[in-house]
Amino acid sequence: MAGSMSRPIPVIGAGLAGSEAALQIADAGYPVRLYEMRPVVPTAAHQSDHCAELVCSNSLGSKLPDRAGGCLQAELRALDCKLLPHAEATAVPAGQALAVDRNLFGARVTKVIKDHPNIELAREEAKTIPDDAVCVIATGPLTSEALANDIQRLAGTEHLAFFDAIAPVVHGDSIDRSIVFAASRWGKGTADYLNVPLDEKDYNAFIEGLLRAEKHELKGFEAKDPRAHQFFERCLPIEILAARGHDTLRFGPMRPVGLDDPRTDRWPYAVLQLRTENTAGTLWNMVGFQTNLRYGEQERIFRALPGMASAEFARLGSMHRNTFLNSPKVLSSLLEWRERPGLFFAGQITGMEGYLGNIGSGLVAGQNAIARLRNQKPRALPRTTLLGALTAHVAESPAEPFQPMKAEFGLLPPLPGRVRKKERKAAYAARSAANLAAHLRHNGAPTAPTHP
Ligand SMILES: Cc1cc2nc3c(=O)[nH]c(=O)nc-3n(C[C@H](O)[C@H](O)[C@H](O)COP(=O)(O)OP(=O)(O)OC[C@H]3O[C@@H](n4cnc5c(N)ncnc54)[C@H](O)[C@@H]3O)c2cc1C
Repeated sequence: MAGSMSRPIPVIGAGLAGSEAALQIADAGYPVRLYEMRPVVPTAAHQSDHCAELVCSNSLGSKLPDRAGGCLQAELRALDCKLLPHAEATAVPAGQALAVDRNLFGARVTKVIKDHPNIELAREEAKTIPDDAVCVIATGPLTSEALANDIQRLAGTEHLAFFDAIAPVVHGDSIDRSIVFAASRWGKGTADYLNVPLDEKDYNAFIEGLLRAEKHELKGFEAKDPRAHQFFERCLPIEILAARGHDTLRFGPMRPVGLDDPRTDRWPYAVLQLRTENTAGTLWNMVGFQTNLRYGEQERIFRALPGMASAEFARLGSMHRNTFLNSPKVLSSLLEWRERPGLFFAGQITGMEGYLGNIGSGLVAGQNAIARLRNQKPRALPRTTLLGALTAHVAESPAEPFQPMKAEFGLLPPLPGRVRKKERKAAYAARSAANLAAHLRHNGAPTAPTHP
């Protein structure tokens, strides 16, 4: 790409995703200017000036090959991830999990970045999106105000959120379909929703349960953020709706009108609607059920609903500060801005969750940026890999509003044929490994250094 040989590629944010993206691009032989605003401008959560600081837990998930964490680690290894070896080198004993000494890990990544001949670490806040032909933005859930405003200007105000309002997501195969029925309201269009029917007794017990359940309160900087209150007014948690009046939910997200229960040929007293979360149709979002209840309480109360006794949750509801794009509207599965090729986003700002997934997104954005620099067409990863499925989720999730997700087997397309439930995870991992190996054989290793 013209002009890219001498001018460094801007990567904004030296968190997990930005550090990975910068190292990918720099190892491929291109100069990088990596902007990190800490410690000059702090965030409300980071404690150090390290690159790739882990802000909370020190665990990168399970190492077991048939768990999502282990499978994702195997994918990252095959794709020449730059940060994973440093995590492994700074691991602490944690049973089957890959947990790290966060200080050692952060210090080590910072040193590698500072010592890299192709990286210049600029300790400054980027206030606007660079206009370079190729750049990566990875400023995370706590993106600075000035840059967030500029991203909002590019995306439109409706396509950048500041708080998560997360509703739980259920695995489709754990729902009792002899009770839960497929229907659309008034029979219009296709029967796209699954409907959990409640009679009056079920509804009363549900409301009672919600009102008594323990809540997870926002604490610290999140509680003080004025945008938390704006957000809550727009998108109220079900426990707050329940506290406003016994029938508020039944006339709101749980309204049953126009939904005939095939078992009774009548409308139920109230309904919980589930809408598919992914193109594979294996995950179902509990519509309008954003909640701040403690996780154990959510599982107990939702499993008491008809047809949900065995519900397995891919994700439980939560609320927290999180700057993220409405990615399906603006990003492709290459993590590239649809209307500005060469502008990549990575990390939590794309709507991915989890440390490892965010490292993976930096890898994807970095490797695709390299392809653009080489005037090659970037190639999306197979959707049968966790990283490919996660990037596809970010770009194509049909859910409205779009909600962040972490890497998990439920995002993958179903396995062909019948596979016993207890063998499924291993089968997903084996398919991911085989398809990724074929993808790499066909496309070659994207980061092999060239001398531009
Ligand atoms: C309080 C909190 C707790 C969390 N706990 C967990 C957890 O336990 N487990 C988990 O998996 N995930 C957790 N997360 C999510 C976690 O943030 C991500 O998994 C991961 O850190 C995201 O990586 P990232 O690279 O997208 O963002 P980050 O790691 O946050 O990196 C973004 C970087 O960009 C910098 N930056 C921001 N704006 C600018 C700017 N304008 N110019 C220059 N630099 C800028 C920031 O200083 C930061 O270093 C938590 C998030 C928060 C906020």
